[in-house]
Amino acid sequence: MERPFIVKPGDNVSLNGVGEGCNLKRTPEYTGAYQKKGETKKPLKKLHKQMLKLQELLYAESQHALLIILQGMDTCGKDGTIRKVMAGINVQGCDVVNFKVPSADEISRDFLWRAHKAVPQKGKIGIFNRSHYEDVLVVRVHDLVPKSIWKQRYQQINDFEKMLVENGTVVLKFFLHISKDEQKERLESRINDPSKHWKITEADIRERAYWDDYMQAYEAALQKCSTDWAPWHIIPANKKWYRNLVITERIVETLEGLDMKFPKPTSDVSILSVD
Ligand code: ADP
Repeated sequence: MERPFIVKPGDNVSLNGVGEGCNLKRTPEYTGAYQKKGETKKPLKKLHKQMLKLQELLYAESQHALLIILQGMDTCGKDGTIRKVMAGINVQGCDVVNFKVPSADEISRDFLWRAHKAVPQKGKIGIFNRSHYEDVLVVRVHDLVPKSIWKQRYQQINDFEKMLVENGTVVLKFFLHISKDEQKERLESRINDPSKHWKITEADIRERAYWDDYMQAYEAALQKCSTDWAPWHIIPANKKWYRNLVITERIVETLEGLDMKFPKPTSDVSILSVD
């Protein structure tokens, strides 16, 4: 299968659609072989069925955990992705963790402390809605710590993720790539629809003014932290239906690649009978 969304180590990444690192298949509008929403319904349904079976196997075998990291600009669709992509799985085997502004307790530790604590147990799927990457994104854009500190973090993140992978956690990282125009539309629809007012704050509007700085910070994170053990995926995300399909496909493909087996029964099943 073609995997244009995976950033290879050393890849040049350009998110603004120009320059050497620009790749059409990673641009916000890209929808591959699909033209409209209805076309992805059937393949998505099929993938959901496969995902449910694979999740059961993941739980039964309990040799691996799957950590899914979702990052992107405000309104990029992290919540919608969790709702739609995970619609196909057993909620008992899945934990979602939201990374907000760190608490006093969290800020008094190293930046990876809260992420490490939230890594899923073997047999489970864990979703990070935002993640330790905020510490090289919002922190970098707003100078929340000196450059000398955040600069070191790329390597620290790579080492941390390597340790997780070596200990049985598969790490899938998705950058949900929307365009600045698409964000404008989504913010406006939140302003204009009273049922969406709870979703919008002044901070969302303020952060939009830093769009270019965020793009630079994302480009750096995607380039420096795409490793052989935990590459980033740049997901075209203007069209929610395509975003959901591509992410679900990657999750299924990754779980299939683990070549999991149901464990051997602990008793001789051939002699068991029920009265
Ligand atoms: P979301 O936008 O993910 O739906 P919120 O509106 O509560 O959720 O936003 C969470 C906020 O917390 C974001 O603005 C994010 O940048 C911020 N945040 C997350 N991690 C950190 C961090 N390590 N340092 C500073 N701010 C952070």
